[in-house]
Amino acid sequence: MKPRRTHIKSRAGCHTCRQRRIRCDECRPQCLNCIRRGVPCDYDEAESSATAASRSAQVDGPPAQAQVLSADDVELLPSHLIPLLQRPVSELPGFTDEESFLVHHIHDMSQRLEHSDTKNVGFCTSVLPEFIRIAFLVHFVRDCICGISSFHLALLTKSSSMTYLSYKYRAKALQGLRETLALTSGPGDVDATLAASFMLSWQAPDSFEFCQTMKGVDLALKEMAERNYTSRLRDLWGVLIPESLVAASSSHSIVPLDAASVALQELRKHVEHNPELVRGVKELYNFVQNIRIAPPGRMPAEQIQALYPVRLWLPWIPKSSYLIDRKDPSVLLFCAHFHMVIVAIGGLLPVTVGAFAIPRRAECIMVINTILKQVLPEPAPSAGHSHTNNKRQESFRELMQAPLMFAKDFQARYSST
Ligand SMILES: [Zn+2]
Ligand SMILES: [Zn+2]
Repeated sequence: MKPRRTHIKSRAGCHTCRQRRIRCDECRPQCLNCIRRGVPCDYDEAESSATAASRSAQVDGPPAQAQVLSADDVELLPSHLIPLLQRPVSELPGFTDEESFLVHHIHDMSQRLEHSDTKNVGFCTSVLPEFIRIAFLVHFVRDCICGISSFHLALLTKSSSMTYLSYKYRAKALQGLRETLALTSGPGDVDATLAASFMLSWQAPDSFEFCQTMKGVDLALKEMAERNYTSRLRDLWGVLIPESLVAASSSHSIVPLDAASVALQELRKHVEHNPELVRGVKELYNFVQNIRIAPPGRMPAEQIQALYPVRLWLPWIPKSSYLIDRKDPSVLLFCAHFHMVIVAIGGLLPVTVGAFAIPRRAECIMVINTILKQVLPEPAPSAGHSHTNNKRQESFRELMQAPLMFAKDFQARYSST
């Protein structure tokens, strides 16, 4: 008699998975099954703490990373990241083990960062769940997801096999995208083109490829506007401000960049405990300085190319990003300053406003400000003994003023649209 394969059934999945009697990965706020089917995902709140505790203990068959990450790779991981990669991975229909593992990794990362309390803190992470949904429908979008997933894992692990995978999937995705662009397209193809172009821009090895992929984003958005396409992905990009309007109000003045540099120098003094943030702030600062010295030309390609260095949001905070779901004030402030730089540059470069979703960046700054206010309560008037703590919180609140000013200024200028 054939031994029956046993597996531990989870009782704590989301409502939809329980109803459908399928295995749920229990990722919050959205599980992968619900993302794939494009349906809302919800959990019984009473069970949530028990679930979180049991989540890492569940095992259902051999974990797929066994074939993808070697033991040597895992050894290189910082210890706090190991549980992240040892989550059980369920097979996804029509996906190879390698693809399942990589899609699960990006899904898990995006769900951590888009946790219900820290939602919309970053634009790039807020579009990832929708990119994943499209990846179930369109093969080259799946290749893009696998590409950035292995790219991210290569950064975390310094693993050469992950670096190889990131090249492999990027090449496949580029080819698939080119083939699609050669054909006439419907709304689904425009969505896929937008998703793929945007993800490929994160991995772009040089400013030329970056420019090409961001132009793809721009073209897809324009095509949606022209043909009046609406989609969830299009909605995530937010209001599109006409280029002509931005051009009319852009001052070509370097003054905003001066303010941004000063703000970054201040921030640097307050993140010294975190070397990754120090490096990130330094790179943002150098980027702003370079633009101040040599502002990009007027041609659309030159304007887009100028933003090439900021494509690196993913490697800038690979480990610190996990501190976002703990609402670490210095990581939140770093994110606010990252958006601030894009908003500041966008005011000078009209062509970048749509493709970089600059109105959404301004909204992200507002969201971060709201979270910071919760994390850093107003100081009690006579709290004598916690003086140093108060002072630290006070400086965090002050640091938020610059990004807030940029966001408010941007919103005030285009509020009539
Ligand atoms: Zn589920
Ligand atoms: Zn679900």
